[in-house]
Amino acid sequence: MKLTYQPFELKLKHPFTIARFSRMSTPIMLVQIEHEDHTGYGEASMVPYMGESHESAAAFLSKVDSNRFQFPFNFGEIINYLDSIAPDNPAIKAAIDIALHDLEGKLLNKPCWQLAGSDPALMPVSSYTIGIDEPDVFLKKVKEAEGFKVIKVKLGRDSDKELINIIRSVTDVPIYVDANQGWTDRQQSLDMIHWLQQQGVVLVEQPMLKTDFAGNAWLTERSPIPIIGDEAVQRLADVEKAKDVYHGINVKLMKSAGMYEAKQMILKARELGLKVLIGCMSETSCASLAAAALAPLCDWVDIDGPFLTTNNPYKTPDFKDGKYELSRAPGLGLSSK
Ligand code: MG
Repeated sequence: MKLTYQPFELKLKHPFTIARFSRMSTPIMLVQIEHEDHTGYGEASMVPYMGESHESAAAFLSKVDSNRFQFPFNFGEIINYLDSIAPDNPAIKAAIDIALHDLEGKLLNKPCWQLAGSDPALMPVSSYTIGIDEPDVFLKKVKEAEGFKVIKVKLGRDSDKELINIIRSVTDVPIYVDANQGWTDRQQSLDMIHWLQQQGVVLVEQPMLKTDFAGNAWLTERSPIPIIGDEAVQRLADVEKAKDVYHGINVKLMKSAGMYEAKQMILKARELGLKVLIGCMSETSCASLAAAALAPLCDWVDIDGPFLTTNNPYKTPDFKDGKYELSRAPGLGLSSK
């Protein structure tokens, strides 16, 4: 099998600001794996705080022997092989895993969602994320979210309540809140959660530091709405640890090293009674469609990557009534513009 790749810079519609930093674009590595006249497409989205880059991705790919990938693919063995090359680098591993899933679908003439056991009728609505901003810009962004049935907002600053009030001045759709580890005081956080619940917020992601197990668990025990671990839950081994700390987990392909392990995480979460949110990074349609293929297996969906970028090299995924519409095309259903 032939593996090729190209670095790409995915531009964001708005500077993306969360509790700790701000940026304008995201380095992406586009990966293709060819076999028998079919090409599988994958993508690594390397948001800076995860520690990967074009350089680290190229260095990793130079160590990958694509002759190790034999169809029919044994994805468990493949991820073990990729982990044996280096322990980290989950995004570039995800790119390979996604490309192989796309290729598998094309070789079997079946859509990835079907091979994953997803029922398109169970597709949840997807949220649209609005980054922290000055009130007038924030208002403009909320208005852009028209057509989405859920808004997700990044909080963690003094202006939190003001931003929620701005959303409520425009729309009454449910809100997901992501604190991105920005809250520090337990009681203040709990008071905030009660206030947020009254404003129609249905879940809170990663309220306190990922290392603060006791603080997050304290909130989970008392919160009237689900508390979801995101930064604290990267790969399969982290799901078990989330059991007594959160109500649920946020699964992202760029953390889980791809679709195979993401599905294992979803199954493990179910076994442990945890809820599942499936999310994304700043991604093109490629990784977003890979996540959408697994989305019907989850409770909540936050796959807004293609809607928050300006130079997506692929066609925007079909989206109707606030939901991804899964195509019957083989593989991911990715098409060029
Ligand atoms: Mg998050």
